[in-house]
Amino acid sequence: MYRTHNCGELRIGDVGKEVILSGWVQTTRDLGGMTFIDLRDRYGITQLVFDMDSDAELCTRARKLGREWVIKAIGKVRERASKNPNRPTGDIEVEVHALEVLNPSKVPPFTIEEDSDGGEDLRMKYRYLDLRRPPLQRNLIFRAQLALETRRYLYDQGFLEIETPFLIKSTPEGARDFVVPSRLNPGQFYALPQSPQTFKQILMVAGYDKYFQIVRCFRDEDLRADRQPEFTQIDCEMSFVTREEVLQTFEGLTRHLFESTLGVSLPEFPRMSYDEAMRRFGSDKPDLRFGMEFVELTELVKGQGFSVFEQAELVVGICASGQAPYYSNKDLKKLTEWVQRPQIGAKGLVYVKVNEDGSFKSSVSKFFGSDQLQRWAEAFGAQKGDLLLILAGEAEKTRKQLSELRLEMGRRMGLMRSDVFKPLWVVDFPLLEWDEEAQRFFAMHHPFTAPRQSDIPHMLDGDFETMKRLRADAYDLVINGAEIGGGSIRIHDRVLQEKNFKLLGFTPEEAERQFGFLMGAFEYGAPPHGGIAFGFDRLCAVMQGQTSIRDFIAFPKNNMGRDVMIDAPSSISEEQLEELHLALREIVKKD
Ligand code: ASP
Repeated sequence: MYRTHNCGELRIGDVGKEVILSGWVQTTRDLGGMTFIDLRDRYGITQLVFDMDSDAELCTRARKLGREWVIKAIGKVRERASKNPNRPTGDIEVEVHALEVLNPSKVPPFTIEEDSDGGEDLRMKYRYLDLRRPPLQRNLIFRAQLALETRRYLYDQGFLEIETPFLIKSTPEGARDFVVPSRLNPGQFYALPQSPQTFKQILMVAGYDKYFQIVRCFRDEDLRADRQPEFTQIDCEMSFVTREEVLQTFEGLTRHLFESTLGVSLPEFPRMSYDEAMRRFGSDKPDLRFGMEFVELTELVKGQGFSVFEQAELVVGICASGQAPYYSNKDLKKLTEWVQRPQIGAKGLVYVKVNEDGSFKSSVSKFFGSDQLQRWAEAFGAQKGDLLLILAGEAEKTRKQLSELRLEMGRRMGLMRSDVFKPLWVVDFPLLEWDEEAQRFFAMHHPFTAPRQSDIPHMLDGDFETMKRLRADAYDLVINGAEIGGGSIRIHDRVLQEKNFKLLGFTPEEAERQFGFLMGAFEYGAPPHGGIAFGFDRLCAVMQGQTSIRDFIAFPKNNMGRDVMIDAPSSISEEQLEELHLALREIVKKD
């Protein structure tokens, strides 16, 4: 037998018990005639004690144990003389009388403790050692709980968990596909699913009216801190539902997850149209943990000869409460440089400080007198001590820039608390986005998204300008400025789906070749349906107040899309290439 208890389990009530523990040696300390070992497993740490006086040979062996050796210890639980209140097992220790080394260990390349001294690359290479650390263990345990509670809730609601294939034909969700060559079909490729979108819709046609899956999705995109080439979604679809019913169901799921895992009861889930979100916050995923809403000054500031404002399509600003005293000229110059960085791209920044004596200090006081600045301050509802930050330029760009500045100010002012959760449904997204460069429309969500019911007639016979104004029956769940999930009511009729493909630049032949199976299915009694997918990794991170999803994935890829532990991707043998009809010889032969 390897263990009677785990390393996080023993308490004062167990004193006197004979126990067997197995685990990893975290530390050994020799104090005079005693040797102490902290023995660790994923449940916690228990102190083992060896006494030179009672068994010199055993104590000497214990002293030789190295970090991360795997051992089994048999002993008696006793009360500790000096207790450790920071540890659940801190009242006791185990006085060992038999010790077995189950496996020695090399000296680990970094410390395996709450905080490690290892760099990112090293920790990724030795992921199995990093995963032994308590923070990562807590994350993965949390993730497992969250998956369990997701299943519990959705099964209770009558959903069925149904698997869909990984080797499919490409589904356009806006990213590049990963492809897999087919040995049996020379020159042909499968694509890994960017999501199970078309399959879940086919399941609706097949009558499985409430489907879900916790499923891996694959997208070959350039990587960012919060992106991974493979990631997990809670993917759902429902038949005979309106948007309202979908939102209610997934608000219910979200509430259940927060309550059951964190004990947090979420506030109201407000709804905001895409247009409103852009106007008030410059973002389709506004962080509602704080206000700092946009105030438009375009009309108010014209006619004073300040050319930047005169030429601007939009002049818009935010009010940073109480910040004026903290921003010296030098700080404001730095802040201006911050918005001018290429990542933000603003031309400049106009500020107004509302001083304690009611006077103003502004970067544009040459053009605007205090009467005018007073009117600006009123538009913002500004108080003494407030700092107004204003950007100007082309409307859409300026809003995005100001949104970045709003988040930065929120961060600096400590308004993004990790223990506060503010959910929001963003609804009524545009159906199509016009791409000037490519001179074509793109689907804002994906090509299967239905327009709002009232827009259907316009979609069927409207002109170009009408198409730009079409609204989708699409929705996103946002929490604390992170997009947690997105979905839509779908098109379920062939004519409308064909029209949408046409608008998206598909020829009828292309549409038929790629999606004939789906449009064909729509001709055999497709029910009205809609659904949503939550980004599961992101949800884990947001619920834990963290930004990187990597720490919630057991084996993530690095920034180059590499798994440095197993060293993938890697080249394959000439024989494999040949089998797959990808060997140079084969290709040349074919040509
Ligand atoms: N398939 C969509 C996505 O991955 C979600 C959905 O529309 O249900 O974003």
